[in-house]
Amino acid sequence: MKIILLGAPGSGKGTMAQKLTGELQIPQISTGDIFRKNLKEATPLGLQIKDILDSGGLVPDEITIEIVKNRLAEPDCNNGYILDGFPRSIVQAEALETFQNIDCAINLSVDKQIIVSRLSGRRFCPDCNGTFHISALSDPEVCPVCGGKLIVRKDDREETVLERFRVYETTTLPLIDFYARRGKLITVDGSGGIDVVYERILNALNK
Ligand code: AMP
Repeated sequence: MKIILLGAPGSGKGTMAQKLTGELQIPQISTGDIFRKNLKEATPLGLQIKDILDSGGLVPDEITIEIVKNRLAEPDCNNGYILDGFPRSIVQAEALETFQNIDCAINLSVDKQIIVSRLSGRRFCPDCNGTFHISALSDPEVCPVCGGKLIVRKDDREETVLERFRVYETTTLPLIDFYARRGKLITVDGSGGIDVVYERILNALNK
């Protein structure tokens, strides 16, 4: 299956993509992870996009589209994939249509207030790329998976979160209508615990 996960920053796309990837045995393609890896490794791309990521803006479409196009052409994507964080604009969605035929776009719908609380409590492990919420951690500084030191992602700081929201509402939200018009939109209530939301997604996919 070729699945897109849509939703505001903090709606749970990454968490749900990770669970789906295990269940469906198809890769999770996260543009945010790809960009953060480049940033961490200080590649030419990483240096080019550092300020954009730090400020909560969007990496230019032509760069992002090229990266996704190449990634989806790799053999592990032959049986499908879960796109997490792409497309994020109509231009990206239209470009995607020219080289891939996706099955559905799942929109995780979550109240803005819940999201702000999720993001402000979010901690990230730069060693294993895990994301956790402080409410589920016995030690808010230590990664429960690999023991690495947890950090607050720069783009989870309050001023950046607000900017990411603004960008989401102006540029990404129109994608809901884009996929609805193509009969490919599945809307799932993204509020509640991880397992509850995941069940809703599986039920929706089974239909
Ligand atoms: P995420 O982890 O998906 O929230 O992405 C982190 C950051 O990477 C975003 O705030 C953007 O700066 C950048 N990014 C991720 N995906 C895209 C995309 N599809 N288009 C442009 N920028 C992106």
